[in-house]
Amino acid sequence: MALFGKMDNLDKGSNQEKEITDIEKVKVLIIGSGPAGYTAAIYAARANLSPVMYEGLQPGGQLTTTTEVENFPGYPTGITGPEMMEDLKKQAERFGTSVRWGLATKADLSQRPFKITIDDKKIIEAEAVIIATGATAKYLGLEDEAKYAGGGVSACATCDGFFYRGKDVAVVGGGDTAAEEALYLSALCNKVYLIVRRNELRASKVMQERVFKTKNVEILWEHQTQGLFGDGVVEGAVLVKKKGTPEEEEVKIKIDGFFLAIGHKPNSDIFSNYLELDNVGYIKTVPGSAKTNVPGVFACGDVQDPIYRQAVTAAGSGCMAAIDAERWLAEHAE
Ligand code: NDP
Repeated sequence: MALFGKMDNLDKGSNQEKEITDIEKVKVLIIGSGPAGYTAAIYAARANLSPVMYEGLQPGGQLTTTTEVENFPGYPTGITGPEMMEDLKKQAERFGTSVRWGLATKADLSQRPFKITIDDKKIIEAEAVIIATGATAKYLGLEDEAKYAGGGVSACATCDGFFYRGKDVAVVGGGDTAAEEALYLSALCNKVYLIVRRNELRASKVMQERVFKTKNVEILWEHQTQGLFGDGVVEGAVLVKKKGTPEEEEVKIKIDGFFLAIGHKPNSDIFSNYLELDNVGYIKTVPGSAKTNVPGVFACGDVQDPIYRQAVTAAGSGCMAAIDAERWLAEHAE
């Protein structure tokens, strides 16, 4: 997941947008650096399109926050997410992709060349754009999540789990991410509560089995989080069991870390004035292609995939985006 939020690039002190004079023209711009972006880069580079890639806030995307990737074909004993992304990056660079640190903060897709502003400082004028901006972790929307940000609330166990060694923590969610985070934390922490709002998990059977077998993971079925408490840092959570039923009950747990694993939001905000999105914000593509409603703009990976959201499907769609872009450029050569 690369993080590309909606950001104003206005100088806060004035109503005037500062004129950007640093302008670079490129053939293909790839925004985002997960498996979709890197695969698009490998294909575009091998097609001599000299792609330029901006990595976003989280270079390597969501896989860099995952532990073992066991389901990507070709790795019989698994590979860590960060290692896989490092390999993909090397492969993209080997064929001439210019991989750069930077965040796309604004997009003008009204005409060709498309204009993408990077870090509010530079404009890339691109003949074709491949959007691979991924998706970002969701929060419950509790005030306490903001209050304790950096003080016990996290949406990435792999990034922050280290800080909770030997402690008690909770993970919210019932999907594969929650199961994976709970398992990861169980190896570091004393105890892991898995807070699940229904009486079953959404996670795949194999992940469920692993969670059930792990002694220091306790599943709190039909629990919802009401709030967090603690003096400056998280010291516990207030939960409600069986909310809205006659058996409704308040439950308090003592924890030092509170991890969100309840899904993701596609990072499509800066394109929303130009591209068709579904009601959640996923970019709509023409079925069987990476084409968006704007000719010359292509989307791949999690930002356009509400269904599969896997590294391997992201990589496949990145390949499609590069091939679509190559053909489109060949047909529209100036
Ligand atoms: P999912 O959408 O699959 O699951 C989200 C979970 O969070 C669900 O259990 C949902 O509950 C719960 N949830 C959502 N909103 C709330 C809320 N407000 N309060 C409490 N609970 C809430 O997201 P994931 O991130 O887990 O997975 C996304 C995709 O990525 C899936 O396709 C998954 O299979 C895949 N994935 C694969 C992995 C792997 O193969 N190694 C690892 C991680 C993810 P409910 O079930 O009630 O809707």
